[in-house]
Amino acid sequence: MRYLITGGAGFIGSNLSRFLLKKGHEIFVIDDLSTGFFENIKDLEQNKNFKFILDSILNIEILEQTIQKVDAIFHLAASVGVEYVINNPLKSIEINVQGTENVLKLAHRYNKKVLITSTSEIYGKNEKDALIETDDRILGSTTISRWSYSNTKALDEFLGLAYYHEKKLPLTIIRLFNTTGPGQVGDYGMVVPRFVKQALLGKPITIYGDGEQTRCFTHIDDVIKAIEIVMNEKKCEGQIFNIGNPDEHSINDLAAIIRKMTNSNSTIEHIPYEKAMGSNFEDMRRRVPDITKIKKYANWEPKLYLKEIIEDIIEYQKNGE
Ligand code: UDP
Repeated sequence: MRYLITGGAGFIGSNLSRFLLKKGHEIFVIDDLSTGFFENIKDLEQNKNFKFILDSILNIEILEQTIQKVDAIFHLAASVGVEYVINNPLKSIEINVQGTENVLKLAHRYNKKVLITSTSEIYGKNEKDALIETDDRILGSTTISRWSYSNTKALDEFLGLAYYHEKKLPLTIIRLFNTTGPGQVGDYGMVVPRFVKQALLGKPITIYGDGEQTRCFTHIDDVIKAIEIVMNEKKCEGQIFNIGNPDEHSINDLAAIIRKMTNSNSTIEHIPYEKAMGSNFEDMRRRVPDITKIKKYANWEPKLYLKEIIEDIIEYQKNGE
């Protein structure tokens, strides 16, 4: 098959590219390298089945030419990372809304199946035990730019569902819960690689807030498998799925585990949110996926847990990133 991966130079997109190339597929990547890195795909440039197009999904001509050539589209291009989104609110809104509109409009014009990658940010401040796909979204004020990210991705989902129902565009939506693993950089938040780096360098491990907020971390390899299965499973069309590992950890626990696993003598420091993220910031206390639906529809569940994730990241960073 021939696939377009928008955002294919990002952490998830580059891993997906590598995975699909190994399976003999032909890959086109469009990425403007705003949050992706050429380094992520440098090794793929030699592969005759890989074509990298340095451009934005806002460039409708390039997007159209590429979509015409492929069988299906993994739409991953988005402004990602809480810190990036907060620091680039306008660009994030433009890419996430107009970019997705472009992809869907052209996918419909040429009848190409689309997988939209959405996010657990969608649920906002809903702290329930295990979030199911139909749960309410609880969001803060529009003066707090973090919530614009949640809203732009929600608009992507609304658009996708509208194309599916009204235009019969074959499409599936997945919501990713804190995907991490070797190769991810800590530049835009991304707490696990950031803590590992701090621990390995013997620098203070910087916990924002009281550290009792929790997250569920999912290994990139599990996420890639889920993405492939969902794209190929007809039953998944028109549906939204949580993709995540329900294993829940507080950020305090995470820091302690990483410190121990790296044999580090780093101190653990708590930094007030205001100092780390500015006054206009709200965090989520908790975010746990219920994955019953993806298990039922696609027989997917995560295989790799936090210790394995951290081990892989340590090994990667020790080998010089
Ligand atoms: N965090 C932290 N220290 C850091 C980076 C992040 O304590 O250096 C916290 C952050 O405040 C959040 C959690 O770790 O509560 C996860 O942050 P990340 O940016 O990885 O993902 P998010 O879940 O916020 O999208």
